[in-house]
Amino acid sequence: MGNFIKDNDNPLKYTTIKIAKQSHIHIKEKDPCLSNCENKPCTYYCPTRVFSWSNKEIKVDYKRCIECGACPWGCPYDNIKWSFPPGGYGVNYEI
Ligand code: SF4
Ligand code: SF4
Repeated sequence: MGNFIKDNDNPLKYTTIKIAKQSHIHIKEKDPCLSNCENKPCTYYCPTRVFSWSNKEIKVDYKRCIECGACPWGCPYDNIKWSFPPGGYGVNYEI
């Protein structure tokens, strides 16, 4: 991916995403985000900014996910449950 996305480029412009009705990404528990996770790294390591902090909880905009697979590994509290979207849904790369 090193040469795929340049600095300040928007990765979503290279994709089409067929949106499933239900999210394939879930925050397991609210408490680790609120009480333990000071820096909330999910809000900056996700390349398409799926995660945001609002009203004292992590919001998940799963419709922006490009399925890079990073989020289960990047959460220091193993608090993100991620799976591929159901068959026929999800990202399609057009390069
Ligand atoms: S990185 Fe994990 S624990 Fe921290 S705010 Fe995000 S989901 Fe919550
Ligand atoms: S799989 Fe990648 S793009 Fe999708 S939510 Fe996780 S970090 Fe973001």
